[in-house]
Amino acid sequence: MAKKQFKTEVRQLLDLVINSLYSNKEIFLRELVANAADAIDKAKFESLTDSSKVRDWQIKIIPDKEAKTLKIIDNGIGMSEAEVIENIGTIAKSGTKAFMQQLEEAKAVNSPELIGQFGVGFYSAFMVADKVIIETKKADENEPAVRWESNGTGSYDISTCDKTSIGTEITVYLKESEELFLESWKISDIIRKYSDFIAYPIIVPKVTVNEDKSETISEEIINSQKAIWLRKPSEITDDEYKSFFGHLSHSQGNYAKAIHINAEGTNEFKSLLFIPETMPFNMFMPDFQKDGLQLYVKRVFITDKCKDLIPDYLRFIKGVVDSSDLPLNVSREILQDNAIIGRIQKAVTSKILAELKKMQENEPEKYQKFFKEFGKVLKEGIHMDYLNQEKVKALAMYETMNTEAGKMISLTDYVNAMPENQEDIYFITGDSREHIIANPALEYFRNKGFDVVFMTDPIDEWIIQSMMQFDKKLLKNVAKGEIILKDEEREAEEKLLKEAADKYKDLTEFLQKTLDDKVKEVRFSSRLVESPCCLVGDEHSISPQMERIFRAMKEEIPVSKRIMELNPKHPLIEGLNKLLQANKDDENLRDYAEVLLDQALLAEGTPVRDTLKFSKNIAKLMVNAIK
Ligand code: ADP
Repeated sequence: MAKKQFKTEVRQLLDLVINSLYSNKEIFLRELVANAADAIDKAKFESLTDSSKVRDWQIKIIPDKEAKTLKIIDNGIGMSEAEVIENIGTIAKSGTKAFMQQLEEAKAVNSPELIGQFGVGFYSAFMVADKVIIETKKADENEPAVRWESNGTGSYDISTCDKTSIGTEITVYLKESEELFLESWKISDIIRKYSDFIAYPIIVPKVTVNEDKSETISEEIINSQKAIWLRKPSEITDDEYKSFFGHLSHSQGNYAKAIHINAEGTNEFKSLLFIPETMPFNMFMPDFQKDGLQLYVKRVFITDKCKDLIPDYLRFIKGVVDSSDLPLNVSREILQDNAIIGRIQKAVTSKILAELKKMQENEPEKYQKFFKEFGKVLKEGIHMDYLNQEKVKALAMYETMNTEAGKMISLTDYVNAMPENQEDIYFITGDSREHIIANPALEYFRNKGFDVVFMTDPIDEWIIQSMMQFDKKLLKNVAKGEIILKDEEREAEEKLLKEAADKYKDLTEFLQKTLDDKVKEVRFSSRLVESPCCLVGDEHSISPQMERIFRAMKEEIPVSKRIMELNPKHPLIEGLNKLLQANKDDENLRDYAEVLLDQALLAEGTPVRDTLKFSKNIAKLMVNAIK
């Protein structure tokens, strides 16, 4: 017998499980039964090509009130010694560390369901047990049966044993306070709640008391084993949906919508999909692995992670697809680049997008909630799914200048509300509404009664490159390029700008010279109403928002020079010009130029370059003003 230490992260995890996760302990049984079912899935899959491996697939749960143990027995694939060490002694899954950190930080101690999300379900047994023994045997005659034992603190013992039947037997030694789990009714309750649709019989002993008070023990199957995705939606209860969703997502969470697909014709498949209500918190972690959907062929389980069944931007969807077209002996490798899978993906994608559209139209509040959770991910589709690009664009929601903070509208809503004289869709990017709302570049549009879409997700910067137009209208960044006015205004404005350019020629030259290292061009514009000046990019420059993102990622990017636009009607411009005309060498002029630039940066939410210098300049100018 060998004594082995758990890897550090397993120890930490166990510590958390044992000491912190205390609500809803019953899910330990769901996790162990799910593992047993997975093990049978794998064995059954093997038996498709080797009929000698066909067994009478089943899971048994046996409580023993005297020994205070609960056994979960399957006749599935079993584990070799190396596999036990690999699967149970270490947590190979990425993200586990991050998970534990999160748990600790958030003190999310009431969330045992999180355990399942990280594929560490087995350890949940230690919520209720002070010792767990695994005995397991593979079908391979060269692999001796293995016994693993641990009390969930630092180490485990591993040795061979004399188990002869193929499969795995888990013995849970219940803590004194958890003896409720020895009651047959309790076990049945839990199984019906979480594991009813498991495709194999789950059997518990049934004790009948005879007339002469003697007891007869028989076996009872407690799960209905009905594949929920094959049933009529009208006959499925909310609880059944919920429990199946819990099974798929390894969580207690709720789903926002259940979607059935019954595809007939050239491509026959049935599917049950769920839009979850909340995002798994690891979705944006760098090592997040998309699960894909579960794939069955004619009710036979093939894999629980068929990534190609769903495009990346819908990776938050959980569900199963049951195909009638794929061959039963399809190997998991063949699934990649398979044309049938490709066609199913297409159909699944269309259906989900259509359901989301329905939700957007008929249940706007629910949709807002959905979009706040998953919008970031969904929007990737605009970039990635050329075929459905227009549909995904219409599903995207944004705050705008005219919406209340936190309320979003779609681009369709935006277009419908456009005044007649507005031709394009205007947007601005930035990292928050608060930053954007004060941007002087909005003044012209506010004044005209044109709404402006606020794109505040970091991902919007990338997405926008694929968003040239929506509904045949161009999308224009209000903080980039020159404003193109409609004909009737153009003449008057052009005249005004030309006059200003002539009149203030010395001033623009002075500003250009003084700020040359930061400003590419100084010009007059019709963009501004109240502010003296603002900074804009040219059509192709990267935005300050994007620059900040790159910097945050520690990317080296060249400092991009911006265009300084002046408001020809602002008194400050007139005043500055006067000062310049009176004395070209006035020592304050330089400071004014610097402050002008810095306040334009502040107005758009970009930090000033040198705060100390900025405040010194301001103080100096104030002193001059009140002297
Ligand atoms: P998950 O089931 O999410 O992978 P677990 O911690 O519950 O995570 O289990 C870890 C691994 O141990 C499983 O992936 C599986 O390979 C193996 N395992 C657990 N229970 C069994 C079982 N009853 N039969 C065979 N293998 C098992």
